[in-house]
Amino acid sequence: MNLRQCLREPIPEIEIAAHRLSDAVSAHLRGERDLAEELFRQADDKVIWDWLDSVWGKETVHNRPRRILNDPPAIPKDQRVPPRDATDATKRLIHQRDGHYCRFCKIPVIRGKVRSLVHTEYPKAVPWGRTNATQHAAFQCMWAQYDHILPYARGGLSDLANVYLTCAACNYGRGNYLLEEFDLVHPSLHAPRQGSWAGLENFR
Ligand SMILES: [Zn+2]
Repeated sequence: MNLRQCLREPIPEIEIAAHRLSDAVSAHLRGERDLAEELFRQADDKVIWDWLDSVWGKETVHNRPRRILNDPPAIPKDQRVPPRDATDATKRLIHQRDGHYCRFCKIPVIRGKVRSLVHTEYPKAVPWGRTNATQHAAFQCMWAQYDHILPYARGGLSDLANVYLTCAACNYGRGNYLLEEFDLVHPSLHAPRQGSWAGLENFR
């Protein structure tokens, strides 16, 4: 069996965009709004959309399961154990463990709350409309997710042991499938990425 860490290896453009976002926030904090605006714009690289669509789109070569297992099965909605999502307290513990990198593909991630703040300050350079086409490519791809390893729909709990930090592609690409259905290695078996990326949390 050919086990893998993620559905598709990330492309270098994502790292380049992350650097630009980080530089944009630094410029913003120095009061250089025009430069920040330009860097946010440059990070909105459409090539990233192509990569993202290839991982989370409908039935692509990268997100077709390698096998279907029926155990454990999906359980009826009214029998699932709440809460549906990790609590804020659990999310804080997840970030302490996982930092601000996807635990599958290792790309930098940004919390939705931070993106909202940036969008409010720079609505033109960081668009966030209702449809994908009107959303910023890098912020979409790098959107921090709290992903159930055993899917919630199949009995997984929203606790620290079962929920890992991931990017949007890794979370939505796998959906309600088991790791085994994609031949994915459990993220606890490969170390979190070490680095200086802090999820743009210093943006104010
Ligand atoms: Zn990922």
